[in-house]
Amino acid sequence: MTNTINVMLAGPRGKMGTEALKMIENTENFNLVGCIDRKHNGQSIKEVDGLPNLDAPIYTDAVEAFERLNADVFIDLTNPETGYKHTKLALHNHIRPVIGTSGFSEEQLEELKQLSSSQQTGIVIAPNFAIGAVLMMRFSQMAAKYFPNVEIIEKHHDEKLDAPSGTAVKTAQLIREVRTSQKQGHPDEHETMDGARGAELDGMHIHSIRLPGFIAQQEVIFGQSGQTLTINHNSTDRQSFMSGVKFAVEEVMKIDHFVYGLENLME
Ligand code: NAP
Repeated sequence: MTNTINVMLAGPRGKMGTEALKMIENTENFNLVGCIDRKHNGQSIKEVDGLPNLDAPIYTDAVEAFERLNADVFIDLTNPETGYKHTKLALHNHIRPVIGTSGFSEEQLEELKQLSSSQQTGIVIAPNFAIGAVLMMRFSQMAAKYFPNVEIIEKHHDEKLDAPSGTAVKTAQLIREVRTSQKQGHPDEHETMDGARGAELDGMHIHSIRLPGFIAQQEVIFGQSGQTLTINHNSTDRQSFMSGVKFAVEEVMKIDHFVYGLENLME
């Protein structure tokens, strides 16, 4: 028999949070013990319009939620500032975080890594829970060895708060591990309008598009004389992220260290 995993979640009314609640409801050995939200203090999830029929209390005070709830795993799907505070609280309370919230800085990630180590508590932070996106990043890293000239175009809905996306930054970081460092474009190029060449990481350029109609899409374009190679991933529904969230919840129970990126849990 599989052991029950007690889960708490922050951001239940959000687009991702609502999908995650449905995933928890449909997973036999996951048990929702409570949520952190900005509204509905003291109510149950099932009393809130549009949320699944789950009987779990809502707390607006995160400190109180972490002290009171007997959770094994904490899922955060809020925003970078809130998510960072919640993640530290979870680690201090030895509740294993699974973090989908994107936009943490490199310094924040380093601090969480150290806190996970000192608390000996496992944590998974994944800029993208879609398995296809994880493969896109892995294939991009493979290609970059042979195609060092690369630019990334990421496209998201216009309610996204951070840019570039966590997935684009992670992709560039993975490429940096294998690519010979170089500045791209003409040595004398200059922008006639600020931002025309996008953000830059180790000479690679990242362009962020924000429009209604998109969920999450990314193209990694490699160029070489006489040929281009494009690796494209498109999330057309937020359900695409949920098998990854479920996998991360199961896997975080088996580790006592910091993991950044779902690919580091996959065979
Ligand atoms: P969303 O629809 O805006 O949901 C965010 C939710 O967080 C909202 O319900 C918001 O409440 C709530 N919230 C804000 N501050 C809070 C606080 N202090 N305490 C508790 N709840 C709070 O955003 P989303 O599209 O679901 O995305 C959520 C996060 O997941 C973002 O960081 C996004 O980039 C990330 N994301 C990750 C992946 C992945 O695969 N890793 C995929 C897609 C998105 P209000 O409505 O009251 O503001």
